[in-house]
Amino acid sequence: MTVAIPGNWHPRLAVPARGAVVLLDLDGVIADAGHRQRFLHQDEPDWDGFYAGVADDGVLEAGRALAASIASEVPVVVLTGRIDEVADVTQRWLDEHGIRWDMLICRPAHEDDDSRHAVDYKRDEIAQLRAFGYELRLAADDNRKIVAMFEEAGIPALYVPSGYYENSNRYDGGV
Ligand SMILES: [Mg+2]
Repeated sequence: MTVAIPGNWHPRLAVPARGAVVLLDLDGVIADAGHRQRFLHQDEPDWDGFYAGVADDGVLEAGRALAASIASEVPVVVLTGRIDEVADVTQRWLDEHGIRWDMLICRPAHEDDDSRHAVDYKRDEIAQLRAFGYELRLAADDNRKIVAMFEEAGIPALYVPSGYYENSNRYDGGV
């Protein structure tokens, strides 16, 4: 019997087989979202402006190389705080830029952008992944709080310094 996966999980081809997977963040790890940070570093974050630019992101070469270097039998799950409304454009971006990925997970569409902290969103997703039988072998993220959460959850995690969280006291990580 096939159990339906959550609607915010987007397999590239087929749902990855249960077992070992690697979790990679997108913005600040694989995608260069630097040109969009100005929409968040203001009194009222402009989420529409922030997400309107995702197709124009450049590639962070180290992130692309990291994804490519993961053993072929270990699926790459891109776990992003981007809202599910940009899942289609994000999947196209990943393919057009030659990123190795097997499943994209975005923030569920019914949530407001900042209704749940990025740390809590990703904690909930890893619980769901584990419930489906995935073994989370490694994670990478540019948000120190998320890296700490992964480690608390028993997942070895790489911190990738993007600088996106350095210049604002107001915004501490929706994506
Ligand atoms: Mg990020």
